[in-house]
Amino acid sequence: MTPEEFRKAGHALIDWIADYREDIPNQPVRAQVQPGEVRRSFPVEAPQTADSFAKLLTDLETRVVPGITQVQHPMHYGWFPSNASLSSVLGDIASSGLGTLGISWESCPALTEVEEVVCDWMRQLTGLSDQWKGTIHDTASTACVTAMILAREKASDLSKNSTGLQAVAVPLVVYSTSQAHSSIAKAVQLAGFGQDNLRYIDEDPYTRAMLPEALADAIRNDLAHGRIPAAIVCSVGATGTTAMDPVAEIAAIANEHNIWLHVDAAMAGSAMLLPEARHLWEGVEAADSLAWNPHKWMGTILDTALFYVCDTAHLERVMSTNPAYLQSSADGEVTQYRDWGIPLGRRFRALKLWFHLHLDGIDAIQARLRRDLANAQWFQKQVEAAQHWQVLAPVLLQTICIVHIPQDADGQPLTGEALDAHTLDWVGRINESGQAFLSPSVLDGRWMVRVSIGVEGTTREHVQKVWELLQASV
Ligand SMILES: *Cc1c(COP(=O)(O)O)cnc(C)c1O
Repeated sequence: MTPEEFRKAGHALIDWIADYREDIPNQPVRAQVQPGEVRRSFPVEAPQTADSFAKLLTDLETRVVPGITQVQHPMHYGWFPSNASLSSVLGDIASSGLGTLGISWESCPALTEVEEVVCDWMRQLTGLSDQWKGTIHDTASTACVTAMILAREKASDLSKNSTGLQAVAVPLVVYSTSQAHSSIAKAVQLAGFGQDNLRYIDEDPYTRAMLPEALADAIRNDLAHGRIPAAIVCSVGATGTTAMDPVAEIAAIANEHNIWLHVDAAMAGSAMLLPEARHLWEGVEAADSLAWNPHKWMGTILDTALFYVCDTAHLERVMSTNPAYLQSSADGEVTQYRDWGIPLGRRFRALKLWFHLHLDGIDAIQARLRRDLANAQWFQKQVEAAQHWQVLAPVLLQTICIVHIPQDADGQPLTGEALDAHTLDWVGRINESGQAFLSPSVLDGRWMVRVSIGVEGTTREHVQKVWELLQASV
């Protein structure tokens, strides 16, 4: 494709995207396709000769779009807000169009230095001190794997330089809670700790926050048995109910025993753009690493996960390899992001954040977050005031965990499996209808429904509409 051909097709594509985005509210929220339907609509073999762009665009519309669950839909209340602000989409396009290669500072000095700048802007915007240095990973999952490897290497005196974990005679242990995201258990496994060495610490039965005394007990017990406490993963906004582990108290315990503390704020990090929300991660300054995803609620399109550490020297010791073909005269003066994480080659992801911040402005982003918090409070009040409905966990951000408990034939509240069946039935009917989408999840062994508010296009009117839909469905 020549630049001239690109110009023509590119204009057509941008027009198509703008129309597509405008039309999202008219689409069903959940994709209505059956498993295998999208795949079967494609030819088995790749094309031998070139197609026209117009034909490709038609195929995009007829074969791909029906297979998209519309997470940008204002009636999407599932999982978490996965906002893809159009300003950041432009940044993504710019990043692709520039065709840069990030393998060293030298391979694209601007890629490295813009990433340094935007990570520092984001640091300031979330109220972190300048001891934190950041980088952009693809996801919070990768950031957590990195953090677990940093913890492992700290606790094992850089075992990577000898025979790895096989050199360590006693087990290294990681602590979290059952509320932590599944990526935490995965990171613990991938970093070589083994699942048996992941402790789920007791939680408060209502807030689902980690109980610091229980953590201290578990650490004492492991020490007494000759095991090495290596890492604590603290959830700031855990997946199910946005539970907030008490960071300050946990950090005090971590520091007492010299244990690596990783703060997973993947979803809730966006709230830290609001000064009034920062009390939720009070104590974060005493942690060793933290990660959060602008590609969730804030709305910088995937994949934009921020990862911050204080001890960059340790990070570089653990992550660097420094082969001869990548060495240059600038070494020592510049940041080599390949030594800050797992991949060598990186995209120019910083452009997405740069465009997003410049074109939307932090004022508008903050106003939207505040709108969503107010909508969640409104929704909570409606549920609490309604007969047979219950809110199951504190509403600290924009997620409300609810259940509807009707009466059985004897006038008793439905319980157990009958209640589970009822919950899955009503939420299933809403999701199938395409009118709204909500994620059912299990809390305390029973099915409940999470209403996660925060899509860019979701206004109070939409929130009212979903509440009406819920009441009509039971
Ligand atoms: C979404 C989420 C993750 C995982 O994020 P990815 O970027 O998809 O890996 C981890 N932790 C929490 C609390 C999350 O909400």
